[in-house]
Amino acid sequence: MYLYNSLTHKKELFQPNSPDIVKMYTCGPTVYHYAHIGNLRTYIMEDVLEKALRYTGYNVKRVMNITDVGHLASDADTGEDKMLKGAKRENKTVMQIAQYYTDAFFEDCRKLNIKIPDVVEPATNCIDAYIEMVQKLLDTGKAYLSGGNVYFDTSTLEQYYVFNDHDEEDLAVGVREGVEEDTNKKNRNDFVLWFTKSKFEDQALKWDSPWGVGYPGWHIECSCISMKHLGEDLDIHCGGIDNAFPHHTNEIAQSESFLGHKWCNYWFHVHHLNTDTGKMSKSKGEFLTVSLLEQKGYDPMAYRLFCLQSHYRRNLVFSWENLDNAVIAYDKLIARIAALKEDGPVDQDAFNQLKDRFVNALNGDLNTSVAVTAMYDVLKAKTNDATKLAALRDFDQVLCLNLLEAAEKLQKKQAQEAAEQSDPEIDALVAARTEAKKAKNFAEADRIRDELRARGIEIIDTPQGTKWRKV
Ligand code: AMP
Ligand code: ZN
Repeated sequence: MYLYNSLTHKKELFQPNSPDIVKMYTCGPTVYHYAHIGNLRTYIMEDVLEKALRYTGYNVKRVMNITDVGHLASDADTGEDKMLKGAKRENKTVMQIAQYYTDAFFEDCRKLNIKIPDVVEPATNCIDAYIEMVQKLLDTGKAYLSGGNVYFDTSTLEQYYVFNDHDEEDLAVGVREGVEEDTNKKNRNDFVLWFTKSKFEDQALKWDSPWGVGYPGWHIECSCISMKHLGEDLDIHCGGIDNAFPHHTNEIAQSESFLGHKWCNYWFHVHHLNTDTGKMSKSKGEFLTVSLLEQKGYDPMAYRLFCLQSHYRRNLVFSWENLDNAVIAYDKLIARIAALKEDGPVDQDAFNQLKDRFVNALNGDLNTSVAVTAMYDVLKAKTNDATKLAALRDFDQVLCLNLLEAAEKLQKKQAQEAAEQSDPEIDALVAARTEAKKAKNFAEADRIRDELRARGIEIIDTPQGTKWRKV
């Protein structure tokens, strides 16, 4: 599989350190609020990556953290802790907030067919590991104590900006904007490994440490949780593009300083879901959730298809019109699949040809939009229905759009409607009502309508004649 690697700024053949297992790490949610559908775009695309790797023959061990401490309102270590903000907003404890929004996150994942990673680790579980890493960084002169906090010293690195698709000044914007300068820092890009002093003294969760009672910085959790479960050599690290700087840049700085060697070979970044006013984000106040889409009558599968229709390295613009188009596409797709019949043996050659196209799309930097086209090619292919159904079932291991399940549901609904439409007794009453209307015996027509209504049957007069349905 060829993947774009943010570290080398080019597409590369993906080769894990060991042929037996791909070690994959994903930055998990900060559980202070519901995930918005932008966050979930990132999780959908990472899910597709994991499934595509498995589908093309790899074993994958995937680890994800749950950020329940240390992520401050600005990614650059300033502002109030996001969890504390959530707790104040809802008058709950930080742990209650963490539990509630962790559950809500996995419920959203379930609705969107996003597989739960093999290991999910809350940040608050690993305090000892952070202390150990911070201590070693201090012992080796890579970190320093200042104003009660421990900082990573970026001047000890040969190169700090590793994802420099942008120039250094562009990247530094993330540090400068809306952020008060922390005068404890020796260098502008230094970042906190362990806090004991912060402006927000009411921080709810604190732990004892060699540097005083405090709490970890956000970046250190991902380094330690990854190493705890995946060891010193990571194959692929994923996250949204906003995580590239400063979060992932800092993860690399501290991990490689700690290990003394390269840590992760491939960096996979999903670009943003934008609205017409820019990136969808929680700090702007208004954001869309899966539950809100459902309340408005949208099937989460239509949102998954919407995401798959575009490449993960392009920004995706959300609008209701775009989502409505995805709904129309999904419904039509399912109707076409529902019309297929199991009509004999699978034509293996035809199946392999269809599969090749799909695999090539995935292998070409996870091009899901081409993979979706390969799925439509199945429907157009000159082969029997059984082969088409086999190919769709196979592709759906990666796409996870409930293709066959939704088609089966539709078939059942259609069969039920057809069965309902052929109840001879009801048909006779409907015919009698039509006759009564023709004879201008409206009292009788109304009486029959009322009788049918009492039996739970609704009559619909259409230009093609009178139809009925159970209500
Ligand atoms: P958070 O819960 O804020 O830590 O973010 C969870 C994930 O969503 C991270 O990987 C972010 O990079 C990603 N993310 C945040 N905003 C967006 C967005 N508008 N579109 C896509 N991904 C996003
Ligand atoms: Zn992370």
